[in-house]
Amino acid sequence: MAVIVQKYGGTSVGNAERIYNVARRVGAAVEAGHRVAAVVSAMGHTTDELIALAHSVAARPPDREMALLLATGEQVSSALLAMALNNQGYQALSFTGPQAGILTDGVSLGSRIVEFKAQRIHACLAEGKVAVVAGFQGQDSNGEINTLGRGGSDTTAVALAAALKADICEIYTDVDGVFTVDPRLVAEARKMEEITYDEMLELASLGAKVLHPRAVECGREHGVVIHVRSSFHYNPGTLVKEAADMEIGTVVRGIACDTDQAKIAIIGVPDRPGVAARIFSAIAGAGVNVDLIVQSIRRNGENDILFTIAVADLDKTLTVLEPVAREIGARNVFHQRGVAKVSIVGAGIAHHSGVAAAMFEALAAEGINIEIISTSEIRISCLIAAERVEEAVRAVHRRFSLAGCPELKV
Ligand code: ASP
Ligand code: MG
Repeated sequence: MAVIVQKYGGTSVGNAERIYNVARRVGAAVEAGHRVAAVVSAMGHTTDELIALAHSVAARPPDREMALLLATGEQVSSALLAMALNNQGYQALSFTGPQAGILTDGVSLGSRIVEFKAQRIHACLAEGKVAVVAGFQGQDSNGEINTLGRGGSDTTAVALAAALKADICEIYTDVDGVFTVDPRLVAEARKMEEITYDEMLELASLGAKVLHPRAVECGREHGVVIHVRSSFHYNPGTLVKEAADMEIGTVVRGIACDTDQAKIAIIGVPDRPGVAARIFSAIAGAGVNVDLIVQSIRRNGENDILFTIAVADLDKTLTVLEPVAREIGARNVFHQRGVAKVSIVGAGIAHHSGVAAAMFEALAAEGINIEIISTSEIRISCLIAAERVEEAVRAVHRRFSLAGCPELKV
């Protein structure tokens, strides 16, 4: 007998028939002798609809009320799933986040989980019942409802698996698993059997949307093995876990791309201590995340500083940046939309030579210009023109033979 946490996303519980099917899946795990706790997202696009509804009655809905409103989406689907399970002959109880014992840090929208007091869920499972927990929510020390931020149900599931010391946390979704690259971009994309937490974190942060980055962090922290798989069939998906028993020799495991980038160049920045700090603290103050940063080599006492941000943050960034640029005596600020970041990710990148060269060669062979390069221990990213992104991703995928053998062929 294993303890299993199963999480079902919005599409998987999108309508009554799908909820009925989810109940059958949960029931199958119960029949197999396991203790099961299920975590659900809100049905379909409920969260978006609730946000739109809030904005139709108030221009700026208060965060506290918004949290209360949004938390209802997951409460609906959890109660319905418990009903469907009961109807199919399985004893089940639904719980809101607060009832499940999730203690949050007091941020109404986008809270972190401080503690998971899982006694009630433990007791429910011990009585042989299925526990169905509403994802994406908890309660702070004042008893206020908090949500965990968009996509937060994944984190609820992994945190619950950690609290229950579950054998596995299964994340059921509408894709078959984690792919070497977005299958909509590259037909030869291959589903990975496994991936390390660090690699998944890079891919998730770079925009592979199957698993929320905070859920991956939580899994790494508590050693929860996460199985990302489809709720529409029974084929195995992708295991996210520690590196120990993984395929040896995998250098590049996957590719991510992000097309929602904009580039900003500050030209002729006087070369003095404190200038970069002044620029980037102003941008951080506006709540904007800066991604790739490059500073050119000093020439005539001046540098050029280039960086990228999410295109949605462009106007906000320029508004704070322009006065700062004048103040520090920079000559000009340019910006450009239509850039994309292509990244290769793999735990072995740091320990193998020739990986960066192989990526650059693949892009060069297609005549694709690289504007900015940045690297981490397990990632190499190149900024290119957005309109070349599909060709770039295909070329790099081919170069590292990701469709067949996952090993690097330099
Ligand atoms: N329902 C929430 C959202 O749409 C949380 C989740 O689905 O994970 O963001
Ligand atoms: Mg999701």
